[in-house]
Amino acid sequence: MRKIPLYEKGGIINEFGGNFCTVRLRIPAGLISVDQMEGVVKIARKYNTDVHLTTRQTMELVHVSPDSLESLAADLEANGTPIGAEKSEIVNITACPGTERCRFAMIDSISLARTLDEKFFGKEMPVKFRVAVSSCPNSCVSERLNEIGITGVVRPYRVPGTCTGCGTCVQYCREGAIAIKNGMIKLNDDLCVHCGMCIQSCPFHIIKADPAAYHITIGGKRGRHPRVGYHVVTVKTPETVVNVVEKVVKWVYRKAWSDSLLPDQLGILDFESFKKELISGLDEDEIVTGY
Ligand code: SF4
Ligand code: SF4
Ligand code: SF4
Repeated sequence: MRKIPLYEKGGIINEFGGNFCTVRLRIPAGLISVDQMEGVVKIARKYNTDVHLTTRQTMELVHVSPDSLESLAADLEANGTPIGAEKSEIVNITACPGTERCRFAMIDSISLARTLDEKFFGKEMPVKFRVAVSSCPNSCVSERLNEIGITGVVRPYRVPGTCTGCGTCVQYCREGAIAIKNGMIKLNDDLCVHCGMCIQSCPFHIIKADPAAYHITIGGKRGRHPRVGYHVVTVKTPETVVNVVEKVVKWVYRKAWSDSLLPDQLGILDFESFKKELISGLDEDEIVTGY
């Protein structure tokens, strides 16, 4: 296999003027140890660069001389923060703090992002390919504006028991998806965004949910014409998420054109047929319907 020259790598970006480049790092989920951070500082001093924080939870070393790229790449690799990706590749995978730190979290976004990074990061693609994971529909990493977005969701339901009609859950639900009729709650699934706030709010544990699921969207984008990705499937486990991402990556790799963003060619690629094929290839027990 051809060894890709450093200057062809997506993580090395030519700066305006042509004399310097910016070097983007690979930092899945934006998490870096203190030792790695110290290492980045030492490297930045050694090569006399500044550090820029990016929107994709990573860092860039700016105004790097092209003559020092080989040695810089080796130093970054040794530091555990190797050169990242930015062009037609699978780029830095982002994630919200998830179950590690956020009380609203329903899935372990960081572990999932790291698993996806290990498996897919840097793969050459016909289009730039972004993946992001949020642990709940608050969507702190705007995952649905990525080529693949994964969101932790739950579907609330009422269990038998005495609902006092206290209205606490109604107050907590920001979507107006809960009403009280004759002293009892009524959930409106059309308005519910599956955030699970009501479940935690009920002092009498009348609202419950099955374990959190992974809601997957394809074809979102930011930029000048932002678009929310299309829901493709909701699944039960992180293993199935990886399986779905693999199928999407293969489909895009084989079929997509390099002259436009993925979201702009979903129609030509017959996304609906692909979606049916993808779902029919999954284990039925792994799919959660109704989302
Ligand atoms: S997306 Fe949800 S779980 Fe993740 S940080 Fe935001 S509020 Fe917390
Ligand atoms: S899950 Fe969220 S949106 Fe749905 S009813 Fe409960 S609080 Fe409202
Ligand atoms: S479901 Fe719970 S929080 Fe909601 S009205 Fe009934 S008792 Fe109150």
